[in-house]
Amino acid sequence: MTMKMTTKTNTRERSREWYVRAQRSLIEGVNSPSRGAAVYSLGPVILDRGRGSRLWDLDGNEYVDFMMSFGALIQGHAHPKIVEVVSQTMAGGSHFAAATPAESEAAERLQRMVLSAEAVRFTNSGSEATMLALRLARAHTGRTKFLKFEGHYHGWYDPYCLNGHSHPAEELGPRENPTRLPDSKGIPASVFDDVVLAPWNDLEALENILRRHGRELAAVITEPIMANMGCILPRDGYLQRVCDLAHQYGALFILDEVVTGFRYAPGGCQQHYGLKPDLSTFGKALGAGFPVGAVAGPRSILDRMRWGSNMVLHYGTFNGHRLTMRVIAANLDLLMANEGAVYKQIYAVGDATIAGLRDVFRRRKIDAIVQGFGPMFQIYFTSRDAIHDYRDYCEYADTAKYSRFIHGLLDRGIYMTPSNGLHWIISTAHTTQDVETLLPAVDEVCAEMA
Ligand code: PMP
Repeated sequence: MTMKMTTKTNTRERSREWYVRAQRSLIEGVNSPSRGAAVYSLGPVILDRGRGSRLWDLDGNEYVDFMMSFGALIQGHAHPKIVEVVSQTMAGGSHFAAATPAESEAAERLQRMVLSAEAVRFTNSGSEATMLALRLARAHTGRTKFLKFEGHYHGWYDPYCLNGHSHPAEELGPRENPTRLPDSKGIPASVFDDVVLAPWNDLEALENILRRHGRELAAVITEPIMANMGCILPRDGYLQRVCDLAHQYGALFILDEVVTGFRYAPGGCQQHYGLKPDLSTFGKALGAGFPVGAVAGPRSILDRMRWGSNMVLHYGTFNGHRLTMRVIAANLDLLMANEGAVYKQIYAVGDATIAGLRDVFRRRKIDAIVQGFGPMFQIYFTSRDAIHDYRDYCEYADTAKYSRFIHGLLDRGIYMTPSNGLHWIISTAHTTQDVETLLPAVDEVCAEMA
């Protein structure tokens, strides 16, 4: 590929002014620390609008967006069909907090795409979905404890906030008895008494931990592809074995597809890897930019939410939000049009991006690997061949170098979060033209870093 010129997007005057103003009313000027100065060294780039694969900031700089709202924007920005559905729906009212056809229309499409979805319950975020899944699993099994893996993020609900952040390798403790590192203050220590921790991608360690705790567990919850330590793939057959082991001990297997759902295949990673989870959680790509989550599974479990003295409680003013449900239906229709042809396009663009990045790193003699495939991947600056788990990430991924790399790209028309814990996203709006814009920018930054 011949290298094109890059554009300069390092004028940040208006971003800086706005950031000063935002800090007067908002903590760190943002609504989540992952968007603020903890990640963006000079303060956040303040964004103004988006269209397709492109974004514009307040200073008028144009970027190709590879973050895509942490993966929520599977159709890119302002997809014409989504804009049309939103305008039409709004003309008839946003939400009634009462039964509407829109919610079954969304649920029916999800059911058709996700094999394990005998029934569906919509929530308003991925965090709410994983929260509900755990409550259902506890009610269904009559057990309290659950197992989560190191470095997995399932939202900000209290019991999940353990060993979700990276730490220096020497603080992690033994693999089969990890040091317990809460991610947040304000959570009673007793909450974590119900959490069993295990390293991921390591069957031997899991088998040993389950021998000790398996019979106490309501559930084993896992991301199918680790998406909060970049992009870490499961070893061959690993997920199926985790599912079998959970069942062997009478625990439910919860697959957290908040990131991977509707992305790796119409039916998510459970389709891609041939898994049959007891409960699955969704979010992000399901809503194409609108706030939503979902729990799907068999009636025998979801029926526990039926009204009665023994019910699993799940309320919510905004559950089944009419506008969002109409967006979901339109989004899933777009994904399934022409027998899911857009997935071929996403994979082709994603794989070309990955190949192009590897090529630049090789030519520039940069110690970096690209993990993942098609719709989602991450770059690690490391001399290792692969990052297999949280411990590898904490020990071997040079996250400071990654941050410098991304800041270099932000100055050259590429939008991405400088946090190595996230991942690059390819939407249906990305084309090979975007790859051609990306690679010269990467080449320039690598030349500077070498
Ligand atoms: N599960 C996983 C695997 C996630 O990555 C996230 C969010 N990054 C969540 C759950 C929580 O979703 P939300 O941010 O919509 O609450």
